[in-house]
Amino acid sequence: RLISGSRESPQEDALERALRPKRLADYVGQQKIRDQFEIFIEAARKRNEALDHVLLFGPPGLGKTTLAHIVAHEMGVNLRQTSGPVLERAGDLAAILTNLEPNDVLFIDEIHRLSPVVEEILYPALEDFQIDIMIGEGPSARSVKLDLPPFTLVGATTRAGMLTNPLRDRFGIVARLEFYTPEELALIVRRSSQLLNCQIADDGSVEIAKRSRGTPRIANRLLRRVRDFAEVKADGHITREVADAALTMLDVDHLGLDIMDRKLLSAMLEKFGGGPVGVDNLAAAIGEARDTIEDVLEPYLIQQGYLQRTPRGRVATASIWRHFGLDAPGQPNR
Ligand code: ADP
Repeated sequence: RLISGSRESPQEDALERALRPKRLADYVGQQKIRDQFEIFIEAARKRNEALDHVLLFGPPGLGKTTLAHIVAHEMGVNLRQTSGPVLERAGDLAAILTNLEPNDVLFIDEIHRLSPVVEEILYPALEDFQIDIMIGEGPSARSVKLDLPPFTLVGATTRAGMLTNPLRDRFGIVARLEFYTPEELALIVRRSSQLLNCQIADDGSVEIAKRSRGTPRIANRLLRRVRDFAEVKADGHITREVADAALTMLDVDHLGLDIMDRKLLSAMLEKFGGGPVGVDNLAAAIGEARDTIEDVLEPYLIQQGYLQRTPRGRVATASIWRHFGLDAPGQPNR
């Protein structure tokens, strides 16, 4: 998927890292979170303590990893990064924990995908900065308690509801990231074009911003594709017209919906009469994983009021019938 929220090639990853703001002051939007973190970080620094454990949740590409790096940078400590599915055995996590320096940040992405055995050793680590590890095997095996330096766990997940209760309860700071406004995204696009050394008119950045699904990662990715287009088809300067032509070529429509969004929505309208339809039926109809629908596609469509989640299933709203040029059943709009 060219413009999905998920991660892509190594080159794209390197570019993404280069565009990542390093200070809280450069982190655009998420005002409430920024205000809170400014206070929490300053207080922890003054006491020379580790920041409380942080849980960040929200759809992919909204800046969870970026915020974890900023926390470490502002605290003046190292960041160690891993992810739930990578930590297979208890020993994998123990190795990382015992190598931390005081007040370091440990970032665990997709923390809802930790295996139960790994989660089990995380509890005492979070609560008492201690772990129990087993030494040896069979009858001579014994458990040894190890002290850890104080550290901050920053956990990231797409949905807070997927965490077990005991894990969720161990985070002192819980922050939910919101979709960005077009104005905020335009700011991000302008900043990124400066870093990428490309010329962009104000209305060019607004056009990209409006069509980026409220998501900085998508805004930055679209900017790079539009830049390619501008270099080949125009004089390199990104105007609104150039942005529009490039985005249309990339199949991003005027609402900012991409191929996958439209595939989902048109299946809802054409195969299921606009719903209500269960998410598993939708997943089967478009050949996508249920998780992709729930974590990547749906949140933005719901936030924009194109789709509703009801107890009986998903329902398309009148605005999406109109967008597809169709009459909603029972409520003709022409
Ligand atoms: P997540 O971890 O939530 O999937 P990331 O932190 O990897 O998202 O963010 C994706 C990209 O979007 C980053 O590389 C960064 O360039 C950009 N980005 C995210 N949040 C912001 C922000 N608040 N301000 C500026 N750029 C941001």
